[in-house]
Order: sequence, then C-alpha cells, then structure tokens
Amino acid sequence: MSNLTPVEVDGQIIAYYFECPGCGLAHAPYIKPYQNPVGASWYFNGDIEKPTFSPSIISKVEYTEGKVSICHLCITSGKIHFLEDSTHLLAGKVVDL
Ligand SMILES: [Zn+2]
Repeated sequence: MSNLTPVEVDGQIIAYYFECPGCGLAHAPYIKPYQNPVGASWYFNGDIEKPTFSPSIISKVEYTEGKVSICHLCITSGKIHFLEDSTHLLAGKVVDL
C-alpha cells in the first residue's frame, strides 16, 4: 500500500502528498512540469509503489520564537533517506515511505 496520495487539479496529477514520519508534516512534491508556489518541481519515476523523486526535498519551518525546524530527505525506490541536516530524530536514517 502506497502512502502517496495524488493531488489532482482538473483531472491532472500535479503533485503527490505524504505525511512525513520524520517531521510529522505533509510534504507534497510537485511533478514536472507543474511547480509549487515557490517554483520548485521534481522528477517522479511514475512508480507509486516504489517511488523515486529527485532532487531532494527540503522543508524549513521557522517558528515565531526563532526556532527553525528542517526536514531534508531523498526518496529513492520507496525509501526515505533523511539527510543529516534534518533537525528531527530520523536524521541520518532510512525508512519505508
Ligand atoms: Zn519531513
């Protein structure tokens, strides 16, 4: 069972959404040629069971009190590789998507 949920606009899949086991937030990589509100988009291998997205996904959340939360990950063949600069407990770990 895939944890990816397609995001459709006018019958076109523009992005895939998943809840991140690292930071607990949702990430939604937009699929080329579609772009997210800041102009980013990703290559997707088309395999919903063993997805690969590239390049990496980085999410940075700044809280009002000045704390910064970073989630940086690569998704390859259905595995999430959390990079070391992530600020949560799964930094440096690999888990199933
Ligand atoms: Zn995350």
